[in-house]
Amino acid sequence: MTQRIGLLGGTFDPIHHGHLRAALEVRDALGLDQVRLIPSARPPHRAVPGANAEQRLAMVQLAIADVAGLFADARELERDAPSYTVDTLLSLRAELGGEVQLILLLGWDAFCGLPTWHRWQSLLELAHLLVLQRPDQSVELPEALKDLLAARTVSSPAALAGPAGQISFMQQTPLAISATHIRALCQAGQSIDFLLPSSVQHYIAAHGLYRAAAHS
Ligand code: ATP
Repeated sequence: MTQRIGLLGGTFDPIHHGHLRAALEVRDALGLDQVRLIPSARPPHRAVPGANAEQRLAMVQLAIADVAGLFADARELERDAPSYTVDTLLSLRAELGGEVQLILLLGWDAFCGLPTWHRWQSLLELAHLLVLQRPDQSVELPEALKDLLAARTVSSPAALAGPAGQISFMQQTPLAISATHIRALCQAGQSIDFLLPSSVQHYIAAHGLYRAAAHS
């Protein structure tokens, strides 16, 4: 059987139950072999005090240690500069071959911003897109995506066929958790219990992460 792999990129600064629940729901709804969490590199001058690449990766690894089918993929951290998604997909294809089914997971907001991405029209040559929808989404679909949607959308995620090239949608349980909020709670010295796995919480405490005052 051809392997089917979901891809969830993000800064994961830190990873939390919103990310994990999304990855798990997609794994189960589509019966995927893997969902890879791919921490992104980011410019060093980001305005918020954050964890470094090694720490963000370590937290992802801790969070998924006991979760079947979820994997950390460090390829974007192996470069200094932020990677374009198209390059990440090319690198995955080079490693995994042309047959594997790759499914890029995108929130609705990210999907609507697609026309601004580097070589966005090549993305569908390399992967399917699964757009994760939430009831509270507000961004409007840009004109540039309407034809693409009409041509490429399949009836349900289960109908995604072949290695790449189609688009589907899935409703997601909205968990109102963000890494920004977790960092703010840490800075304020407040509890982050139940927002993220306790293994990640211990890592944050042990490394004194997210305590520094914000500076720009
Ligand atoms: P920040 O608050 O630092 O912007 P974040 O919590 O939004 O971070 P990211 O690392 O930017 O997390 O997100 C990675 C991916 O996970 C994105 O596709 C994003 O849409 C998705 N995601 C983030 N938070 C949630 C959530 N609570 N539920 C479901 N998906 C989420």
